[in-house]
Amino acid sequence: MPDTVQNKKIEVNALWRAVLAELQLTLSAYTYNTWMANTKARNLTEDALEIICPSDYSKKILEKNCYSLIQQSVNKIGKGEYKLSFVIGEIEKGSTTSNLKKSVPPAAPLFEQSTQTFSTKELYKDSGLSGHYTFDNYIMGPNNRLAYSIAWAVATEPGKNYNPVFFYSGVGLGKTHLIQAIGNKIAQEKPNLKVVYTTGESFTNELIESIQKGKRGKGYVSDQFRKKFRNADVLLVDDIQFIVGRQSTQEEFFHTFNALYMAQKQIVLTSDRPPKDFTDLEERITSRFGSGISADMQPPDVDTRVAILRSKRDRENEAVPNDVIEYIAQKVNTNIRELEGAYLQVVTYSKATGISITTDLAIRALGQTIREEKKAPINLNQVLKAVCNYYSVTGKELKGKRRTKDLVIPRQVAMYLIKELTDTPYMTIGEFLGGRDHSTIIHGIKKVEEELEELPKTRQDIANVKQIIYQNTL
Ligand code: ADP
Ligand code: MG
Repeated sequence: MPDTVQNKKIEVNALWRAVLAELQLTLSAYTYNTWMANTKARNLTEDALEIICPSDYSKKILEKNCYSLIQQSVNKIGKGEYKLSFVIGEIEKGSTTSNLKKSVPPAAPLFEQSTQTFSTKELYKDSGLSGHYTFDNYIMGPNNRLAYSIAWAVATEPGKNYNPVFFYSGVGLGKTHLIQAIGNKIAQEKPNLKVVYTTGESFTNELIESIQKGKRGKGYVSDQFRKKFRNADVLLVDDIQFIVGRQSTQEEFFHTFNALYMAQKQIVLTSDRPPKDFTDLEERITSRFGSGISADMQPPDVDTRVAILRSKRDRENEAVPNDVIEYIAQKVNTNIRELEGAYLQVVTYSKATGISITTDLAIRALGQTIREEKKAPINLNQVLKAVCNYYSVTGKELKGKRRTKDLVIPRQVAMYLIKELTDTPYMTIGEFLGGRDHSTIIHGIKKVEEELEELPKTRQDIANVKQIIYQNTL
């Protein structure tokens, strides 16, 4: 981010956002989330900055342990030498907000939670934007750092830095969120600029409609359509890949693109593939894409996934403990949409059942979604009970010496599940299961592991027993 903050008259929220973004990368996720994430900044002067901490304790910790680290970052991003002071308390929300309203168009307030519906709805009229996607609730991580920096630069100074901008990634990795965040920030801070957000699909549909409605015969594109797009100061087109192979859409898009590009209007595009992979798109269009800057977005690492869910939880004020967030973040590594989906599933399940949110509940709620189960804090007796229940044998039989098939299988399953779910040492498992030695336990577990590879029935049995265990522990 530092390179994107070029104004001398830097805005305190923007500065602090950039500092936090940098510290988020430097500090461990835990330290960052515990100590930095809830801070704010105010009273930026040429050589001083006030940092607001939520409690006396956090103030002390930050002063003592993080002063120089924060200062370094502030100096670098603010391009100066700043003295930091730490104060406790909240920003006087009322006054800050009303001051903002009076002086400048409501700046995207960095820390005010974005559940606020913008009071500036008129700004969005016809823009196609949803106020929900903002920079405030967009978490930056190593996976999207470049894209984030570009987006921030573009939103701060549209048309100046990079043009066109092209973001690409797989599904659910934040393209729509980021491109909309750009639009929202510009709409809020520069109400005189006309922001138009559309998708490749809507662009196509509107064009078709416009042609259909056109009175002057086939091929006529209404002035209204052209006006809408060509009068934009900022044109955001999400999922541009949709226009590939549609001749008239491509043609119209090309002209729109050119008109805006020539007039140095900001153009931002997203797609599910990099510009060079647009083999079916006309060369004259792809070469235009390539003339600006492009950045890809990768799936987030686990720390970033945790940060995303924590931010969501805090914003929505849900009682989801950190260990549950950790669990979901560990388990869902495909994309952010699925991550949010899993989170929602847990929250909804808890609301539906009235059971408060714990890791056990999450395991249960996500049972169908996530195949691999977590090593939950389950005790040996719970496993034993479930195994006995499922195979209709008694605990005494299972722990006994008899080695008939109807006992050997459940016994080995018990060994396997105890190991998997409780991580108990082999020796202890052996003692627990009637004084067997640890090599017997290792052998038993290995046997089940092999069967799991080969036999669907074993997989089903194990899944069923787990189900009983989790049901019993809720
Ligand atoms: P795409 O357009 O790439 O398919 P989206 O922008 O729709 O992905 O993102 C999917 C979901 O994940 C959205 O709800 C979005 O708000 C959320 N999301 C994506 N990236 C982030 C991020 N970096 N921080 C917070 N939420 C994110
Ligand atoms: Mg999208």
